[in-house]
Amino acid sequence: MEDIESYFLTFFSIWKIVDLINKLMSIPTTIPHRAVVEHWVRQSVYQRLGKSMPRVAQASNPLVVNVSARHCHLTQEAVEALFGPGHQLSVHKWLYQDGQFAAKETVTLVGPRSRVISNLRILGPCRTLNQVELAYTDAIALGFDVPMRSSGSIEGTPGGMLMGPKGFFEMNEGVIRALRHVHMAPEDAKFYGVSQGDFMKMKVGGPCAMTFDEMLVRVDPSFKLEVHIDTDEGNACNLLPNTPCELLK
Ligand SMILES: [Zn+2]
Repeated sequence: MEDIESYFLTFFSIWKIVDLINKLMSIPTTIPHRAVVEHWVRQSVYQRLGKSMPRVAQASNPLVVNVSARHCHLTQEAVEALFGPGHQLSVHKWLYQDGQFAAKETVTLVGPRSRVISNLRILGPCRTLNQVELAYTDAIALGFDVPMRSSGSIEGTPGGMLMGPKGFFEMNEGVIRALRHVHMAPEDAKFYGVSQGDFMKMKVGGPCAMTFDEMLVRVDPSFKLEVHIDTDEGNACNLLPNTPCELLK
C-alpha cells in the first residue's frame, strides 16, 4: 500500500510542477486532465505490483467529470450579427472534447424582465442552431422558466435577446437547462454495457457525497469519456479536481 501511495505522490508532485510552469509561462498547450493522469498512474502501479486491477482501473479510458458553467452555442450568422460581418470566433481555451473550445468572445443575455447576464461565454466551433445553457440558479435570477432538455432539442423552449459589441441577435427559442449527460465512445459504452440514449448514475464521493440519477448517455466515435454537469449540480456535491466519481449502470 505504501508503494502505491509513494508512486502517486511522486507522480503528482511532478505533474503539479509541470502545471505550474505551464501557467507561469502561459503556454497555450494543455497538460492532461488530472483524471487522465490518475488513470495512467493507477494502471501502471497495479501492473508493476502485479496486483489485480479494480474495475475502474480496467476501463480503457479515464472518467473525466467537468462542470459546464452557463454558456451558449451560436450559428455563424448569429456571431456575425453580434460581432460584425465575417467575424470568426477565436480560441480562449481548448476543452476536453477534441476540437471544442471556449471562445474569447462573450455576449450579454437579456432575460424577459430586462435582467441581464453579462460575459456569457460562447463555445465554439459554430453550430447549426443557437442554444443558451443555464443552470436553474441563473435562469431564476433572469426570470426564465427553462425546461430541461438534451442539447439540440430546443423546440418550444423560451427565446431571448443576445447583445454583442456590434449588434443584437434575437433568439426565438433555445434557452435550456442541459440534461446532465456523459459523452462516450463506443468502446466506453461497451465497457459500461450501455447504449446511446440510456441513463446511468454517477456516484460522487467526498464530504458532500451524492449520486446523480438520470445521467443521459451520448455515444459517438468522436467523444472522449466525460460527464457534464452544470454549476448547480457541481456546487451541490462540491465537485473538486480530486473528488472521486464513478459511473454506474
Ligand atoms: Zn456535454
